Order: sequence, then C-alpha cells, then structure tokens
Amino acid sequence: MWRYFLPTRVFSGSGVLKINQTVFKENGTKALIVTGRSSARVSGALDDTIEILMNLDVPYVLFDGVEENPSFATVEKGGKIMGENDCDFVVAIGGGSPLDAAKAISTLNKNKGITCDDLYRGDSLAAFPIIAIPTTSGTGSEVTPYSILTDSNGTKRGFGMSSTFPIVSFLDARYTLTMSHEVTLATALDALSHSLEGEVVNNGDNPLVKMLSAESTGIIHRVLPRLMNRENDLTLREKIQYAAMLAGMVIAHTGTTAAHAAGYPLSSFKGIKHGIANAVTIIKVFERIAQADPERIARAIEPFESIGELEEFLDSFEVQKMVPALTEDEVQRWSEQSSKASHNKKTPGNLDRDFYIDLYRGLGKH
Ligand code: NAP
Ligand code: ZN
Repeated sequence: MWRYFLPTRVFSGSGVLKINQTVFKENGTKALIVTGRSSARVSGALDDTIEILMNLDVPYVLFDGVEENPSFATVEKGGKIMGENDCDFVVAIGGGSPLDAAKAISTLNKNKGITCDDLYRGDSLAAFPIIAIPTTSGTGSEVTPYSILTDSNGTKRGFGMSSTFPIVSFLDARYTLTMSHEVTLATALDALSHSLEGEVVNNGDNPLVKMLSAESTGIIHRVLPRLMNRENDLTLREKIQYAAMLAGMVIAHTGTTAAHAAGYPLSSFKGIKHGIANAVTIIKVFERIAQADPERIARAIEPFESIGELEEFLDSFEVQKMVPALTEDEVQRWSEQSSKASHNKKTPGNLDRDFYIDLYRGLGKH
C-alpha cells in the first residue's frame, strides 16, 4: 500500500512569474514578502515580484530579516509584522531558510496567540497561502510541507502540515545563477542526500517515490560535476533545479535519515552549510544501514554502484576539508542528542550513541 500527495502547483521556466502573474491575485489581498538579507535582491527575484504586485495593485510588506538556519525569534518577529499589517498571504523568496521561515510565519498568523513551540505539538493547523520562489536548488522546500527552525538552545527542529505545502511554486533557474560556488555545491549535495536518503526510507515501497528518486539521483550524478565547472550555464542550472524539486517530492513522502540528524549540530554550532553537513555524514550512516540491509542501500543509491563510488563522488568536491575536527565535549554532547533523533527509527542498523561518537570523532581528519 502506498499514498502520494502533493498539493503544490509548480510553474517552471524562464519568465514564469510574469507569464503566470495572476496567481498573485488569486491567493490573497495583501502579501508579506519573506526573504533573506540579500539573495532575493541579488538574484532579481524580488524586483520581479514587486513589479508584478504593483502592476496588479496588490499591496505588500517586506520582511527581509531571515538568516541561515532561521531561529524561532526571527519567525516570531516576522509573524508580528505580518499580523500588524493584516497580510493574508506570504510570498517566500530565497533558499530553504526564507521558505521555511515563511511557512512558520504564515501558520503563526493564521492561529493567533500560538508560539513557535506550538508548531511541534503534532496538531494539524491551518496556514495562510504560501507562494514559493526558490533561489537555491537544494532543499526542495518549494514542494515540501517542512519548515526547519532553530530553537533557543540551537537545536534544529522540523515540522510540517498539509497546510504548509506552498500553494504555488515558481521555478525560474535564472534566479539561481547568482549563487556562489560554495552555495551551489552545498545545495546540490543537499538535494542528492534527499534523493538518496528518501529512497533508503522508501525502500521501493512507493513506486512513484522510487521513480522520482532514481531520476533525481541520476541527474545530479551526471550534471553536478559539469555545473561546478560551468556555473553560468542556465541549462545545467535548470537541470539541477529540477532534480532538487524531484528530491523534495521524495522527502515530502519519506522524510530523511540519520544523515540529516547527524548534520544538524554542524550547521547550528559550526556554521557548516546544511548540504555539506549531510555530505560528510551520509557515508557512515549508509555503511551502518548496509550492515543490516545491504540490498536496501545498493538499490537506493543507483546509479552509484557502491557506497565507495558515492564516497568518491563526494570526495571529488573535497567536502571533508570543509568541516573542522570536533572537541571531545562536542562529540559527546552531539552524540547523545543525535542518538535520540526520530530519524534513527526510519531505517535498520543500530544508530546508537557509540555509532555517533565514532562518526563525529572521524570528522575533520583529512
Ligand atoms: P539558505 O540558508 O536559504 O541560504 C544560504 C546562503 O545562500 C545565504 O547566504 C543566502 O543569502 C544565499 N543565497 C541563496 N540564494 C542565492 C542566490 N540565488 N544568489 C546568491 N546567494 C544566494 O540555503 P538553503 O541550503 O537553500 O537552505 C538551508 C535551510 O533549509 C536549512 O535551514 C535547512 O535545515 C533547511 N532545509 C529545509 C528543507 C525542507 O524540506 N523545508 C529540507 C532541507 C533543508 P541570503 O541570506 O541573502 O538569503
Ligand atoms: Zn536537507
């Protein structure tokens, strides 16, 4: 038995915003535009959006204060601005950070009086409509319900409800051309980890998810090495954007594995980009799962022929050199935390505290 659910309308191609601009009038009367500090402007997506809203006479308020790994405090600040200005839909422009923050801001406003903590109680809450315009090609947040926020202790926590799927996503790869080399690589490797980890969880059970994952992994395997040498190539950018969206569709149905859980503290406490954090943890996690179920890993990582080949692919981008060695105190604290993550229950293999101690001690040794 399997189910497939994806309520997001996706428009893709150069100029999709302008061509489909009436969408901005169909979902509300006053917009809160949610962005990071500069990428929405630099990419050109913010100007295009504002021009359209002005042409349509749709008023808007801009909240451009979302940082990487967005905090509860930032979301609550954005929520206050949305409420004070009576906005009734959200346009999120940027990478996963602004998109995720926008989902939480929209939910907080629809349910007056709740706090960020209330988003994690497992309730199914309503949200104002969310329009997503991604400027990175990685998280897949444009087609997932998930919002990953950082609480006041520095812990990354995710929630997702059917109301927090974007109602519409516009994919225009021109907005991704301005990503730096580092962000391009990190986000593409995040997409790859979604595709691989999602299929490890799925284990072939949902044939649609398997198909999406196989396509996504195949594209990233073929295209990413070329893109890293030709970053201005719009066709290659479009392919990676498409692969990241497919991988988002995968995790919308499966979630991720312990590789994501293990990487979270690296982003929260060491500033390591999310996709790089996954890339340096995924091999050890997959090796452990393979000890319990080798066939499952072999099938999920195709067209990579072995974990060794996947490791070589990741090493070709020198990802291990991008993380520092950890102190023994960090190793102990993070291992305790990661061994309790819900991600560990999604796959076979004994992902206990000792496993994480070994994983974290191995980082930064290159
Ligand atoms: P991000 O944190 O949104 O952005 C990373 C950096 O890239 C920022 O400095 C950003 O600048 C910059 N940037 C983004 N687009 C750019 C562009 N086109 N040109 C120039 N610079 C650009 O990166 P992300 O990897 O997309 O998102 C990571 C977050 O998403 C993490 O918090 C992660 O946990 C979460 N995540 C969510 C899901 C999900 O399903 N919702 C899945 C995986 C991960 P600005 O600060 O100026 O914007
Ligand atoms: Zn991710």
